[in-house]
Amino acid sequence: KDVKPEKAQPAPVEEPPVEITSRERVIFPESGQTKGDLADYYQAVAPLMLPWAARRPISLVRCPQGRASKCFFQKHDSGSFGPHVSHVPITEKDGGAEDYLYVTDAAGLIACVQMGTIEFHGWGSRSDAVEAPDRLIFDLDPDEGLDFDDVKKAARDIHDQLADLGLTSFAMLSGGKGVHVVVPLTPGHSWDEHKDFARRFAEALAIAQPDRFVATMSKAKRKGKIFIDWLRNQRGSTAVLPYSARARAGAPVAVPIAWDELAEVENAHPFSIDDADKLLARARTPALIGWGHAEQALPQV
Ligand code: ATP
Ligand code: MN
Ligand code: MN
Repeated sequence: KDVKPEKAQPAPVEEPPVEITSRERVIFPESGQTKGDLADYYQAVAPLMLPWAARRPISLVRCPQGRASKCFFQKHDSGSFGPHVSHVPITEKDGGAEDYLYVTDAAGLIACVQMGTIEFHGWGSRSDAVEAPDRLIFDLDPDEGLDFDDVKKAARDIHDQLADLGLTSFAMLSGGKGVHVVVPLTPGHSWDEHKDFARRFAEALAIAQPDRFVATMSKAKRKGKIFIDWLRNQRGSTAVLPYSARARAGAPVAVPIAWDELAEVENAHPFSIDDADKLLARARTPALIGWGHAEQALPQV
């Protein structure tokens, strides 16, 4: 009998996966996680992270020799990230244009890890609409020694004040010391309008409760208080993205948290890159479904 050999199928056209070299290199010496562990973490949480990280200009904290060695903050494309990382020219203050980085998929995140990236920070606008911001962030920076309970209460109060203005907000643990209060907004206002709103909101809080809040960056004025860092809301500023790892001891990660859950946590870094499975499971719980989503515009002020 004639058995026809199966026709050879053309190979599917697929970019080769990003190769991670030096997988065994220890990036977090205090807790032992390697570059391979970090890549595996980002691969696992990519479905959670990409809705916030993709198609948005990003800056990277790169520590090629590990977090305890030299790290640098990279804003511009150095041309060395390969085909999975895209770039978008953005006009600088001086009128010139610089290429900023953005990714669209998990391979993009992994390509950045291959280049020594630990942290991903994002603009408040998308790479296809750079001049149309789509969120506000109030980054609560507590003075050294301040109790985390005070930070939680501050975040909660800011949530309530925003609610009085008709704005839904969401909390994120930074993976460091503070909490970020995130306000998603339908694009439609300028960077200056966003920044002015954020500044006046922060200043009003600092004036109303000067013993708890400051709205100026000065470290000297921060003694025992929380700096409401509204400067994350100016054109060109970035904030750490949800699910980004941090280049800090123990490999902590920035995580979305429900307002009810916030009451229960003891610090801003309860999860690390070891917790990808937990984070994936958490993200499917009712408390976190819909985190970061609201159809709302900047109030007319
Ligand atoms: P924490 O909760 O510990 O404050 P954080 O991520 O909020 O963590 P901040 O120091 O408050 O840390 O925020 C600084 C922000 O400024 C970062 O989110 C980042 O996007 C940006 N940033 C960090 N390093 C640089 C840098 N070298 N140049 C410009 N911007 C930076
Ligand atoms: Mn902060
Ligand atoms: Mn800050």
